[in-house]
Amino acid sequence: MDTGTSVLFVSASAADEKVLSILLAGDEAGVGVRLRTAATAQAFYDALYSEESYQVIVLDDQQPWSDWQSVTTACGKSRPNALQVLLTDSGQPERQVAALGAGIAAVYPRNSAGLIALAKLVSRLAARGHSFSLRQDPQASEADTEADEQEDREKLVYAVSHDLQDPLQLARRYAEILNEDFERELGDSGSKVLEHLQFNLGRTQDMLDELLDYSRLENAPSDRRPVDLNELLDEVTALYKLTLDEIGGSITSQQSLPTLVVDRRQFQRLFQNLIGNAIKFRSDKPLQVTVRSQRVRNEWRIGVKDNGIGIAEEDAKRIFGMFERAGSSEDQPGNGMGLAICKRIVQNHGGKIWVRSSPGSGSVFIFSVTQPDDSAEELEDEN
Ligand code: ADP
Repeated sequence: MDTGTSVLFVSASAADEKVLSILLAGDEAGVGVRLRTAATAQAFYDALYSEESYQVIVLDDQQPWSDWQSVTTACGKSRPNALQVLLTDSGQPERQVAALGAGIAAVYPRNSAGLIALAKLVSRLAARGHSFSLRQDPQASEADTEADEQEDREKLVYAVSHDLQDPLQLARRYAEILNEDFERELGDSGSKVLEHLQFNLGRTQDMLDELLDYSRLENAPSDRRPVDLNELLDEVTALYKLTLDEIGGSITSQQSLPTLVVDRRQFQRLFQNLIGNAIKFRSDKPLQVTVRSQRVRNEWRIGVKDNGIGIAEEDAKRIFGMFERAGSSEDQPGNGMGLAICKRIVQNHGGKIWVRSSPGSGSVFIFSVTQPDDSAEELEDEN
């Protein structure tokens, strides 16, 4: 007996089939879904009378070989338990009403938005196993009266970055189809435009990924343990070893660094971003990065100093914002999220981050980390 979710896609559109399978593959729950397409009458009846047990049957209402009502009736008779979904031109309310009356459970427009909604529905069903009730309780939105603006902003960032993934993926796939199947029709100038389009879609994807990543950092349960920053710095230095050898740069710590109770992965990322930036924004001089630490009351301050191009005073605050870059960075790869992520990590640890710099004379990025009283005392003894 078959297990897993199986979908019969009754449509003559190979492009829609491709897009639907890509969308399903992009969702964890949709990965295992079996998608069988029937583009002809023969294929449809073969599928209908096969052993496969379909949980969902999707009908495109534009079948070259039959009208959708007859196809629905045939499905209803042979596959009474399958959920039927109709794809139709948007803006046809009469068809929607007729379809729902004919036993179709849902009607989606035959366009990108419809395919996205369909893929979500199938993934949800796959995630739930074989339960097909559409009477799903709308999730009670818990109005948290204490939610402040910051929390709302964070939710918005998450929602935007998460929900834009599907349409963006779809746009990238359409661009790929144009590239693969319509090269001749596009000609040279059309191909050039498509190249720009694909480049920019790729950039948008990178930005969305960073944004999502940033928003997940907020919700990441922080796993705090004592972390020896000397070891952490060695690890990050090892990551950049090839580049440092190539450019003749060095990373040193001015004195033994403390052991702090922090989330190790987040701190590794923090050091990686700061040192990566020092490498990226180096000057003509051989790069020298120096890390030092200082205890100030109940917090530790860590400074990462470089002898790079430096930052103008008017940019010093701005660069910690999302997607903010200073004028000098146009030739360098990046999208201005690195320092926003650093700021988020430091804030997760109850600290602050800032920079002291001026153009041409390098920069010192300083961040503070508050420590629980007792561990701070211990650390003071150790250092
Ligand atoms: P990205 O590196 O992707 O541009 P960041 O958020 O990491 O994004 O940095 C924001 C901007 O801050 C950079 O574009 C650059 O202009 C400036 N910047 C960051 N680190 C340094 C540095 N060590 N020296 C000079 N400028 C820097």
